[in-house]
Amino acid sequence: MKAKERMAIARQMPVEMTPQERVKNFDEIVEGYSESTAILEAERCLQCKKPTCIKGCPIHNNIPGFIALLREKKFEDAYWELRKTTSMPAICSRVCPHEFQCEGSCIRGKGKGQSVAIGMLERFLVDWMVSNKKALHTECALPGDKKVAIIGSGPAGMTVAYWLSHKGIPCTIFESLPVYGGMLTVGIPAFRLPRDIINAEFDALKSCGVTLEHGVVIGKDKTIEDLKAEGYDAIFNGVGAHASRKLGLDDEENTEGVLHGVDYLRRINLGEDLDLGKKVVVVGGGNVAIDVARTALRYGSKDVFILYRRSREEMPASPGEIHHLQEEGVNIEFLAAPVKIHSENGKLTKVECIRMELGEPDDSGRRRPVIQENSNFMIEADSIVPAISQNVDHTADEGIDVDLMSWGTYNTDAQTLQTSIEYMFAGGDNVLGPQTAAKAVFQGKVAAESIELYLQGKNLKEDREFVCDQIDW
Ligand SMILES: Cc1cc2nc3c(=O)[nH]c(=O)nc-3n(C[C@H](O)[C@H](O)[C@H](O)COP(=O)(O)OP(=O)(O)OC[C@H]3O[C@@H](n4cnc5c(N)ncnc54)[C@H](O)[C@@H]3O)c2cc1C
Ligand code: SF4
Repeated sequence: MKAKERMAIARQMPVEMTPQERVKNFDEIVEGYSESTAILEAERCLQCKKPTCIKGCPIHNNIPGFIALLREKKFEDAYWELRKTTSMPAICSRVCPHEFQCEGSCIRGKGKGQSVAIGMLERFLVDWMVSNKKALHTECALPGDKKVAIIGSGPAGMTVAYWLSHKGIPCTIFESLPVYGGMLTVGIPAFRLPRDIINAEFDALKSCGVTLEHGVVIGKDKTIEDLKAEGYDAIFNGVGAHASRKLGLDDEENTEGVLHGVDYLRRINLGEDLDLGKKVVVVGGGNVAIDVARTALRYGSKDVFILYRRSREEMPASPGEIHHLQEEGVNIEFLAAPVKIHSENGKLTKVECIRMELGEPDDSGRRRPVIQENSNFMIEADSIVPAISQNVDHTADEGIDVDLMSWGTYNTDAQTLQTSIEYMFAGGDNVLGPQTAAKAVFQGKVAAESIELYLQGKNLKEDREFVCDQIDW
């Protein structure tokens, strides 16, 4: 096919559940591609000589490579091409903010064009492997004599376990919660990431000899020094960022009807039936705010809206998720922020807000919101859910003295992810701040390589395959 013909093929849109239907359940909204649709979409790829998509993918998957195999109907080979670099294609293909990562860098998406649907093609391959009952993992290596403790079962910890177990290094994952998967399980709702997909990853890890222990809070039930004394030769710290950042308003922590974003989602995802009432105000512009609003709708709240202090252009949430949110009937009040919580008998009644306007760009490059004086207005509400980011919870560090950055993330070597404690490596949200699954996966891969070199007594900076190049992100 000539490039002109490829350019003429329109992006293939997946089948989706209607908004009316989907707000009544937690089933997955987007259907995977059929074989013919996947091949047609794969034909859109120009096989660029300098593929910009690879750089945009935090894991650096060989995107044109797997697409070329897919369109030749070599589905199994295409899947294994992906597997060379990624530990969890089933998850990343569903939750990655592709518009900002691989697809955001695809040459076909420049200007008014539409990028190749890289995420949907990746998902097609995993779905094809599952429906054709193919093994999703390669053989594991026989266990050696050094062992590693992994704190936290999110994508960073899962990835370290994946790579190390394939190198014959026995690992145990210690997870404080009763479930595994970190924010994939207790943050992202099931209608975006079905739980059987996450469970399948843990089944595969177990079959590779990884030991899983839940309900163990490192720093309380046992310390990092205890783990060392128990004979673990190295530790990977992947505790993520689970402490909700507060708005800083009076009575924010002791008013009924105020619940913070990831705390709300964690409780819901652990099975609590939490009713936020009829009218819910969610504060924030990222994926957490959007997931809170969409979850509240599914739990019966009728009038849910989001308050965001900047404009649509600055919203960090994935455009696809914003589109789904608005289809489901959630309005976003842009350029507005809460300034006071009003309550009666300790129960929230109203949220006082103020209008903002955009000033000069701040350090993040986004235009800074500036208060419009005397623009206060009131919103009656049953609940307010601030979802304005998370900090790292350092319970795990009890009894140790480890270097931190000024904003509370672990200070690690930029190339190797080694912390100031020689035997401890860290990666994912606890190093980058709240970010994405794919970035946690990539850091997990870097840390796994560092741990392997460390256990072999080798120089961590020489002859590496993976180097932490987060500056590109
Ligand atoms: C609501 C929400 C929506 C999101 N949507 C997306 C999305 O669409 N796309 C995307 O790419 N990313 C998304 N993310 C971000 C993504 O989930 C995270 O970047 C990713 O999970 C970080 O991985 P991690 O392994 O570093 O940490 P986590 O996934 O946070 O895992 C850390 C684990 O460590 C455990 N832990 C913490 N302290 C201890 C301790 N002391 N002892 C033992 N265990 C401990 C925690 O319980 C947790 O299970 C979202 C996040 C949230 C909250
Ligand atoms: S940038 Fe887009 S068109 Fe080019 S190789 Fe990557 S996916 Fe294909």
